[in-house]
Amino acid sequence: MSDLQAILDRIAAEMAAAPDRGKVADYIPELASIDPGQFGIAVCLADGTHCTAGDAEVRFSIQSVSKVFTLAMALGRLGDQLWARVGREPSGLAFNSILQLEHERGIPRNPFINAGAIVVTDALLSGHAPREMLGDYLRFLRHAADDDDIHINESVARSETETGHRNFALAHELCAHGNLQHPPDHVLGAYFHQCAAEMTCRQLAFAGRFLVNAPELPSLLSLARVRRINALMMTCGHYDGSGEFAFRVGLPGKSGVGGGILVIVPSRAAVAVWSPGLNAQGNSQLGTLAVERLARAQGWSVFG
Ligand code: GLN
Repeated sequence: MSDLQAILDRIAAEMAAAPDRGKVADYIPELASIDPGQFGIAVCLADGTHCTAGDAEVRFSIQSVSKVFTLAMALGRLGDQLWARVGREPSGLAFNSILQLEHERGIPRNPFINAGAIVVTDALLSGHAPREMLGDYLRFLRHAADDDDIHINESVARSETETGHRNFALAHELCAHGNLQHPPDHVLGAYFHQCAAEMTCRQLAFAGRFLVNAPELPSLLSLARVRRINALMMTCGHYDGSGEFAFRVGLPGKSGVGGGILVIVPSRAAVAVWSPGLNAQGNSQLGTLAVERLARAQGWSVFG
């Protein structure tokens, strides 16, 4: 057994025994009943090999991890024009905060808070019906992961459509400032569906390989854009927990309220971790702890 496999097995065993597992997101009713006892991890290395441990083959709702993929698609399609509509600064506020958006006249701080991701989805809808945009999105995920067995969970999307009042408030505020080009219900329909994509840790780690920049791994974007997406993951990927994640883990990461985190080790690996219980900032409690331990064990950090 490789060293890495032994480390993952040890971490999975430690996480199985962890007493404080955080709290499952219950504001999306379909997610409220997920068993918080689960934990999975997958690592794809720069040489193309991979290792997994725990519940790495269980599908979970990727939620805001989807924002990395829609940002990559929008940058590929629109290029730097996107930055006229969304900023690149950490927000220091919760992912679904409404406060800053009015104050800053409808320009969201970054593409990973909900308001910014809704603008990115709106940009992807340009010239495309929601169904086509979601078809392109699924094709992107499947191509990146080299796996066609990736789908959207309609019940999760519907559940969020029925209860996503904050996201509707954000979309209407964006519209009021002229920063939405399509009707709020169209944009949110697409946004809730993109968030409701389900993947396993193994699929998500595979899908993240294009952000690693290694000769053996697929390249879907220019190196300049890969670096920028990593910079945004580092500074904004965990909302008001981004500083803490950078401090503890030292690697770019993007979390979702389904409990998944995609972490990139530049030039070395893509890591996906999942445990549904969240901390106060809405980031996976055990997922963060697990990647902190993995990074320490492997000596992985962007800080040398
Ligand atoms: N679909 C969720 C929402 O818009 C995504 C949030 C998240 O994963 N942080 O509230």
